[in-house]
Amino acid sequence: MSKRDYYEVLGVAKTASEAEMKSAFRKLAMQYHPDRNPGDHEAEVKFKELNEAYQTLSDGQKRAAYDRYGHAAFANGGGAGGGGFNGDFSDFMSDIFENFFGDAGGRGRGRNTTGRERGADMRYNLEITLDEAFHGKTAELKIPTSITCEACSGSGAKPGSKPKTCPTCAGAGRVRATQGFFSIERTCPNCHGRGEVIDDPCGSCGGAGRVTRERTLSVNIPAGVEDGTRIRLAGEGEAGLRGGPAGDLYIFLSLKPHPFFQRDGADLFCRVPISLVTAAIGGEFNVPTLSGSEALVKVPEGTQTGKQFRLKGKGMPVLRSRDVGDLYIQVVVETPQKLTKRQRELLEEFDKECSKENHPESSGFFSRFREFLDGFSGST
Ligand SMILES: [Zn+2]
Ligand SMILES: [Zn+2]
Repeated sequence: MSKRDYYEVLGVAKTASEAEMKSAFRKLAMQYHPDRNPGDHEAEVKFKELNEAYQTLSDGQKRAAYDRYGHAAFANGGGAGGGGFNGDFSDFMSDIFENFFGDAGGRGRGRNTTGRERGADMRYNLEITLDEAFHGKTAELKIPTSITCEACSGSGAKPGSKPKTCPTCAGAGRVRATQGFFSIERTCPNCHGRGEVIDDPCGSCGGAGRVTRERTLSVNIPAGVEDGTRIRLAGEGEAGLRGGPAGDLYIFLSLKPHPFFQRDGADLFCRVPISLVTAAIGGEFNVPTLSGSEALVKVPEGTQTGKQFRLKGKGMPVLRSRDVGDLYIQVVVETPQKLTKRQRELLEEFDKECSKENHPESSGFFSRFREFLDGFSGST
């Protein structure tokens, strides 16, 4: 999933004026405001996205940077202030964890002048077996992630103290300097744009407002999930910085290959070798299915290799549906090997008894082939 284009989020053209953007933002903000959509998570996410887009585009400098570089313009949005944590973050990423958007600062984080930062999105690769995909399961995920520091409630200031307004910029996060005719506004060097400074950093988190912990998350994997399914758990990603909202957690499901069943959507395929004799005179065999029961396959006499038998309703369940796929059994005739002298004699004797009718395909094949070639050359 890539970050949506800010103009698209606001539904305005790239050439939109400030006023047009403001009115578009107001309209959408009213629509998705959490107060108007209590408990609606999608609205909440949209609202956040909207805020982020508007905050960027309503700021002339940021808009120019965004127009030029896109989201990459804010790739290291943490700056010097938030940078300390970014380093730690990539450290605890083990092989199954990746910051969803590449490096730790990869996502243009929603920042505002209070230094709040949205936590990064995270990716969790979960491999399940076909059997688990068949039955569905509750997966316990252990997620080393940063959470809001309990000691300082995420403020980063030592308990009992509070971050105070930055004296350099008086809380604005930016400072203005006049050089000749020009007035230049830049990020406040003292607070790095946060507008607040922490004199007494919290001992537990060193002022970052969050700490690394292992969380356990119970996730319900529904029956019928497919390889490559993505599950998004909103707000379960990295904690925000200094009270900012948490990122999202994306679970990427992959299915372990099964030694006997191949899956194609809801259908399962299985190759079953049968003996030459069973193929010739008929017989039956049981195949184990994923439901735990066995299914009977009846092989009629004269079955050829490659023949498929369909077992209706013995395949995979379909996600969020009562439908079930089928199981296809493809038989492959195994030619006997390492014959004893006696077996060889029996087969030779059997062969003497054979007529064209026993092998309609193979008997006379080459003469038919030649006839075809002769006819072909004659016609040219
Ligand atoms: Zn703390
Ligand atoms: Zn400042």
